[in-house]
Amino acid sequence: MHNTPRLFAHQEHTASWYATSSGPTPHYPTLQNSVQADVCVIGAGYTGLSAALELAKRGFSVVILEGARVGWGASGRNGGQVLNDVACGMETIAQQLGREQARRVWQMSLEAVELVKERVEAYHIDCHLQWGYVHAALKMRQMDALRQWQQQAADHYDYHDFNILEGRYELDPYLRSSRYIGGLYDPNSGHLHPLRYALGLAQAASHSGVQIYEHSPVQAIKAGPPAVLNTPQGQVQANYVVLAGNTYLGELAPALDRRIMPVGTYIIATEPLGESLARSLLPQNSAVCDTNFVLDYFRLSHDWRLLFGGRVSYSGMSPLNLKQSMRQDMLKVFPKLAASKVEFGWGGFVDITMNRAPDFGRLLPHVFYAQGFSGHGVALTGLAGLLMAEAISGQASRFDVFSRLKHRPFPGGPRFRTPALVLAMLWYRLRDLL
Ligand SMILES: Cc1cc2nc3c(=O)[nH]c(=O)nc-3n(C[C@H](O)[C@H](O)[C@H](O)COP(=O)(O)OP(=O)(O)OC[C@H]3O[C@@H](n4cnc5c(N)ncnc54)[C@H](O)[C@@H]3O)c2cc1C
Repeated sequence: MHNTPRLFAHQEHTASWYATSSGPTPHYPTLQNSVQADVCVIGAGYTGLSAALELAKRGFSVVILEGARVGWGASGRNGGQVLNDVACGMETIAQQLGREQARRVWQMSLEAVELVKERVEAYHIDCHLQWGYVHAALKMRQMDALRQWQQQAADHYDYHDFNILEGRYELDPYLRSSRYIGGLYDPNSGHLHPLRYALGLAQAASHSGVQIYEHSPVQAIKAGPPAVLNTPQGQVQANYVVLAGNTYLGELAPALDRRIMPVGTYIIATEPLGESLARSLLPQNSAVCDTNFVLDYFRLSHDWRLLFGGRVSYSGMSPLNLKQSMRQDMLKVFPKLAASKVEFGWGGFVDITMNRAPDFGRLLPHVFYAQGFSGHGVALTGLAGLLMAEAISGQASRFDVFSRLKHRPFPGGPRFRTPALVLAMLWYRLRDLL
């Protein structure tokens, strides 16, 4: 398994409001010698950090190799929405695994959110965790789907905390925008500062004895066991490997690469609006996603900016004039921000699978992976790390609920999968507009 480190050469955190508001970020050393460990984790995003933290708690010696910086990937750039559920929806899971196993997945998705809360408290991570989430509908058929999901959640998963917001009158206390006709409120989802959360997890892992190396891209793996992982200046020998490289593993793990598609999505941050203007948009400081397939997602920051995300790019190229075009989208939702400046704009890659279900498994009995969170990974990645640690400790039953989910490669191979996906997405985009 080989990879070129072209992506990572000297990469710092992408310029974003997150990088600006995280303060000076601690530097971890570059691997420059040969080390041995029980487990080598590739990637210091939430998945890798969570796996490392849980493994260290269980007594394993752990090395993390990160090609760029801790939280450099999606974990340091995302919308910060801490959501239960899975991106594909629970029916996809139930169709594949049956209702009983789907119930386990649902419970684990709630546990994933709880785990975020526990870690923020236990490790004193200053990441402004807030609760409350609105799934907002633009059309009657979307409202019908939200009502149906509320019913199914109660009937099949014994979840009774969703609250339907019928019409603008009920929506207004949470979200003041004439673009939406109602929504579904969940008090148990919320939002946080994603890069600060990643940095806090890294600090906790490091305090637990995990050795973290930055600017240390893995270029080649000899599977072993023991596995041997080479970086430009060093080498790790380990009995287990955890692949947590998300969309960046490429040729290092071609079988995984074929099953995920990196899709660009983008976020802007306004100037600080002041609490009064900010709360006139989102009175309860809730996170919001709309119900379109190509969705808008937004929330307030702790210094009262609006962080507004959306758009997609399948080519990997950012939209021309990113801040300006995203601003137009934001003004469709909140026209009263016409006089507010947009100060930051950035993007990142979401790791989507064909069926949008998460993709966990083993490439070999000692090589574990978790990927394909499909835009729903802030909470679920933490659980993925925990489940990999359980599996490596010999308790794989929860990990294997997920590893039984079937995944297909994207049609067209690396060269033609993008045009095929663009066509499929055009269809969904058209459906959003109807
Ligand atoms: C713009 C954006 C908005 C999003 N919004 C949300 C949201 O609001 N809510 C939500 O739930 N999800 C959201 N997501 C998805 C979520 O951020 C991801 O699912 C999650 O962060 C994935 O974490 P990860 O650790 O698996 O991957 P990453 O955070 O991408 O980490 C992978 C790491 O592996 C490293 N790596 C890869 N290959 C190698 C190698 N060969 N050697 C060494 N290191 C390597 C990379 O440098 C990277 O740091 C969003 C994603 C994006 C991009």
